[in-house]
Amino acid sequence: MSFLLAFFLALFCPLSVFANPYSGPVAMVIIDAGHGGSDPGALGATVQEKDLTLSISLALARELEDRGVPVMLTRDDDSTLSLQTRCDIANGTSFSLSGYPVFISIHINSAENPAAEGFEVFVKPERDVAMIDENSSNELILKYSSYTNSQLNDYKDIVSRELAGNICEGFENAFPSVPMRGVKESGLWVLNATWMPSVLVEAGFISNPEEEERMAGTQFQQKLCDVIADAVLDL
Ligand SMILES: [Zn+2]
Repeated sequence: MSFLLAFFLALFCPLSVFANPYSGPVAMVIIDAGHGGSDPGALGATVQEKDLTLSISLALARELEDRGVPVMLTRDDDSTLSLQTRCDIANGTSFSLSGYPVFISIHINSAENPAAEGFEVFVKPERDVAMIDENSSNELILKYSSYTNSQLNDYKDIVSRELAGNICEGFENAFPSVPMRGVKESGLWVLNATWMPSVLVEAGFISNPEEEERMAGTQFQQKLCDVIADAVLDL
């Protein structure tokens, strides 16, 4: 479909002009297990980041599916994926047009100082990046063509921050003894190159022996997945 046709269709569907394009039910959660395959990510004493991110992502997928939320995983095994491939998978996902998708990337922190600790969630900075382009599906162009790139960025930033805030709040309640580093901005590739609201969770420091052991436990992983699933359903 041409942009011109999409433009005229948008012109005659003015109801969509002022609504938040990321409203309604969350129609799909794209879960991105950081690293994988030949890229192990950060290395702990006994575990690798890529294995922790995969097991948390698989548990999160199960949790969300149990709650009736459709999910898509960028990887569900030990595959090597480029950052752009992860974004392409997310950007090409089909979802119910009555709602919108969100993208959640799972990572594990690391620092030279073994005492570094805590939980944090990243969102992209509040500046415009490319959103819907000519490679987007016809459905997407139709759904979003009444918005300018800048408006889509504004709404993406708002909803990403809301999701990140929900996750941090839930984590603080679930793990009161773990330091909360909060919501931070970073122009990370997967946050900038996905068109939907996107967050990147850093579940703790693999370089901190206490946190490494905690994150490897299924009890922590399940509790973290409960927190993230609650945060998505609270949007
Ligand atoms: Zn990572």
